[in-house]
Amino acid sequence: MSFRFRVLGSGSSGNATLVEAAGTRILIDAGLGPKDLAERLLSAGVDPASVAAVFLTHEHSDHARGAPSFSRKWGVRLAGTRGTYAAAGLGACDIAGYDVVAAGAEVAIGALRVRAVRVPHDAAEPVAFVVSYGDASLGHATDLGHLSREVVAAFGECRALLVESNYDPGLLRDGPYPWSLKERILGAEGHLSNGDVGRYLASGLAAGCQQLVLAHLSQKNNHPELVRMAAEQALDRAGRDDVSITITNADGTGWVEVARGRVPEQLRLI
Ligand SMILES: [Zn+2]
Ligand SMILES: [Zn+2]
Repeated sequence: MSFRFRVLGSGSSGNATLVEAAGTRILIDAGLGPKDLAERLLSAGVDPASVAAVFLTHEHSDHARGAPSFSRKWGVRLAGTRGTYAAAGLGACDIAGYDVVAAGAEVAIGALRVRAVRVPHDAAEPVAFVVSYGDASLGHATDLGHLSREVVAAFGECRALLVESNYDPGLLRDGPYPWSLKERILGAEGHLSNGDVGRYLASGLAAGCQQLVLAHLSQKNNHPELVRMAAEQALDRAGRDDVSITITNADGTGWVEVARGRVPEQLRLI
């Protein structure tokens, strides 16, 4: 049975990732308008009503904007931290339901297990998610100022990772954003730069990780070629020619398969 995911939207215009295995489907974030999100699901061959839940990483509008109306229209429950629930104002929304997932906790939903991992980002209670099916896991982290020990540890057993590669520091510094916003992005609770991701790939990437999706690229402060170059050079330095890289634009990706099976013992020792 395949375990796979597909980015439906990425970046400041709206984030959503579909994950499925053995007939269970979940979304991570719903930052697209509900109509747009439903259309993108349908063009991936997925009935929006068949989604078991939308897991929200945090309340910023590029991640949560479409969640209440999508939930109401298709009868799909939302899930996430208490902080996200409060900060997104979901208590005042007519939604199909909300399941609290505390940072550090794991919940089972159909064939999948979803673990929330605290991330450093300037939101109320933001998290990344590790989604597992059997003994294979996908790590999914957008919007974090640095790769904390907690996140790196959570990614340690993942066969596939989706991580943001948000900005090139030079383009950000010289770019059009006001200085206060630049400081926010550059800060420890802002976003990851291409160099931040590169350093992780060169030294900390999980030995069994074979699929890497680089996401949430800034349209003004980054370029897909810079992202690819930084990632390829870093993997090259680490001697990792077994990792395939996908860079997603705002419109998302095709299906990406997550390799099944435990990380081989000899790889863990590297
Ligand atoms: Zn974002
Ligand atoms: Zn954010």
